[in-house]
Amino acid sequence: MSGYLDWIPPKIASKLFRCLRNTPHVRKRLDEKYDKILGELRTKTRPYKNSHTTYSSIPEIGRDRNDILKEMEQIGAAETSQWKDGFVSGAVYHGDDEHIEFLNKVYAVHSQSNPLHPDVWPSSTKYEAEIVAMTAEMLGAKGTSKDTGADEEICGVVSSGGTESILLAMKAYRDRARAARGIRKPEMIVPSTAHAAFDKAAQYFNIKIIRVPVDHRFRADVDETRRAITKNTIVIVGSAPSFPHGIIDPIEQLSELARQRSIGFHTDACLGGFVLPWARKLGYDIPPFDFALPGVTSISADTHKYGYAPKGTSVVLYRGSDLRRYQYFKVADWPGGLYFSPTLAGSRPGALSAACWASMVAVGQHGYMQAVQRIIQTASAIKKEIERMPDLHVLGEPLWVIAFGSETLDVYRVMDCMTAKHWSLNGLHKPACLHLCVTLRHTQPGAPERFIHDLKEAVEYVKANPQTEGGMAPVYGMAATLPVRSVIEDLLERYIDLLYEV
Ligand SMILES: *Cc1c(COP(=O)(O)O)cnc(C)c1O
Repeated sequence: MSGYLDWIPPKIASKLFRCLRNTPHVRKRLDEKYDKILGELRTKTRPYKNSHTTYSSIPEIGRDRNDILKEMEQIGAAETSQWKDGFVSGAVYHGDDEHIEFLNKVYAVHSQSNPLHPDVWPSSTKYEAEIVAMTAEMLGAKGTSKDTGADEEICGVVSSGGTESILLAMKAYRDRARAARGIRKPEMIVPSTAHAAFDKAAQYFNIKIIRVPVDHRFRADVDETRRAITKNTIVIVGSAPSFPHGIIDPIEQLSELARQRSIGFHTDACLGGFVLPWARKLGYDIPPFDFALPGVTSISADTHKYGYAPKGTSVVLYRGSDLRRYQYFKVADWPGGLYFSPTLAGSRPGALSAACWASMVAVGQHGYMQAVQRIIQTASAIKKEIERMPDLHVLGEPLWVIAFGSETLDVYRVMDCMTAKHWSLNGLHKPACLHLCVTLRHTQPGAPERFIHDLKEAVEYVKANPQTEGGMAPVYGMAATLPVRSVIEDLLERYIDLLYEV
């Protein structure tokens, strides 16, 4: 089904397809195609189907707690070695036993706490305020002057993850623009490589997203950004670095562009917030990306990535409390009482904020710096080896997220081959490539060598067997050649459905 609509302009093809999709013939062909792809994935997403009881209703009499725990420990253990031994890109950023056990203890101490009730758990308030303060200081808050008289102090909140931090910031810009400038049709300008969370924000909050291309080094194009500015632009975005290729956008120029026009500028440092400041201190050449730049008005930084906190926390920071207030939710006439919440959720897991705080305090500046040193050294060794492989090339000049593609091979077949060797890499497209996001897991002795060894074998295998069937390669192949996004979006919807089948 690839390629036969290539000659039609994408917009028209898309419309045409939406009509065609509902004709019985096309519907049937598509459903067959989806079933074939999803059938394979269905088994993969349900490895416990035969070995463990499946519950589709609450058991009438509760099971013995020890018995449950034993079963869950078994399941957990089966899933540990892949990430623990460093076969997974990103995902688990620290993962040492000692650190995990410490975080688990902290969780147990505060498992009942909920920041929604600051009167009952003032500890949550303390932890979150200090997480924000420590992150702000790390990202250049110190030295941003109060002497201008302007509301310039860096402030923020703790959210549930990078996506929520980004959603909140975009909502704040939208609401401020509506209140202060009467903008009813807000637009945001976002590099093509910035995270999908910006599309999510655009969809959820009715903001038009304008994606600008990146240059040959995978950095946001400043001139294209300038040209995309309109009177409705509420925010410009840059990544430090981007998720796909680990490349830092020209934040200085982009944020200056925004500042000169009194537009907000968001640095997405979800991935780099807890890496770049330490890399700079170690002497790596890190371009400015944080609040040291006067045009940067907000930053997202994920504590649950390189902050080494357990999953479920991130920080979003603002220049000035005025901007932060546009993020808040409050309602004065609800019969349930005077209600407010700083973020998207109502009740929140205070234990995760406690564990995040504990992680930051336990690791300390020296710990973060040492970790970054190990990660960047490991990544640069891997990068060098990939660059020496004639069939592969590294995209741009990344520090620790190594994206690579191929001119000679189907790189998704290489990915499938790596999957068969127990690896979990990220498949990316536009252009076709894969990446390994290096974490502390990959700094274990022997881990980088094993990656390169397996990658070389995978490349040799694909060269020898270019016709292998199955895996993700055909899905990415389809995504690349179809002019109609909706087929892939259909497929993704069906995949999500599948995740909730019992
Ligand atoms: C991970 C990431 C996000 C989204 O974070 P989640 O915690 O997965 O919601 C956003 N931007 C970048 C650059 C990221 O790496």
